[in-house]
Amino acid sequence: MMKEISQTAERFDAGPLDRTEDNIFRASDSKQPRWETAESVHENNNATIDARYTASLSKNPLWNAHEVLQRPVPIRTAYGETITNNIDRIVEGPDAEIRALWQKYKDKVTITKPGYKGNEAYYSCDEGGVTQNIEVAAKGDAIDTPYQVSFHEFGHNIDYLINRTDGDGKPGKFFSESYKDGLLGKTAKQEAESFLLQRWKEHRDKTGQRLLPEKFYSMVQKELMTAIPLLERGDISDIFEGATNGKLCLGAGHGKEYWQHRDNGKEVFAEMFSASICNFGSLNNIKKYFPETYKVFQEMVKIAGGKV
Ligand SMILES: [Zn+2]
Repeated sequence: MMKEISQTAERFDAGPLDRTEDNIFRASDSKQPRWETAESVHENNNATIDARYTASLSKNPLWNAHEVLQRPVPIRTAYGETITNNIDRIVEGPDAEIRALWQKYKDKVTITKPGYKGNEAYYSCDEGGVTQNIEVAAKGDAIDTPYQVSFHEFGHNIDYLINRTDGDGKPGKFFSESYKDGLLGKTAKQEAESFLLQRWKEHRDKTGQRLLPEKFYSMVQKELMTAIPLLERGDISDIFEGATNGKLCLGAGHGKEYWQHRDNGKEVFAEMFSASICNFGSLNNIKKYFPETYKVFQEMVKIAGGKV
């Protein structure tokens, strides 16, 4: 099995895809979507952040404090009662273990710039919290349900916090990286390869054709993009993109360059966390295409304290 997967990977590595269709949503979105922004966990980027912070301090006197990174504050302090209660109400629906995980960590999640009005959404452990435009996140869009972007970034924040107590505790490292040596991301890669190999064989047996990699990826991309509505597809698109080093994208993701030198497990954790809370259509597709990866996620949630 492993040998077949490995050979398949080599075969698929032969060339770049025709990515015209992937870019439709990126170009047409009225706001800059999260995969085009600095949506990043910055864990290998300390120098960059430090330099930006130092430059910010030296260029701006303290009375111009809005340019200087602010001290992170809890969600309730950042956004007030109404928004915080709205966020909490969303978590009333999903399964008990996710609810318990949220209850355990919700007061420890931190916001770096409460009044932020820009188009970026990211978690940075160097900055110490989540940056997002809460009014935009509350509305949702074609790819995300209301607050799904928030829960995606809260998921990164929680993944980082879990690693302080239940993982290896290393600075800048996340539980999704340390748990069983990155099992979450590795399992997603295996499942993506198995799915692609299976589909490749089906097509070969049915038509007698052995498609070139770029044609094959285009075919699978079209099949899945046609079959699954965008709102239910964004998470698996990103997981497929990370698991295949950007070769298969279903119209939403971080862009091919994002995955260079980056563990794919962190995004898997954030996608599964947010889908579990507020996008059940997406969660069903996660369970369908990445069932074993989802089991690893559930294991991690239990260990992290998401007990009933
Ligand atoms: Zn992310």
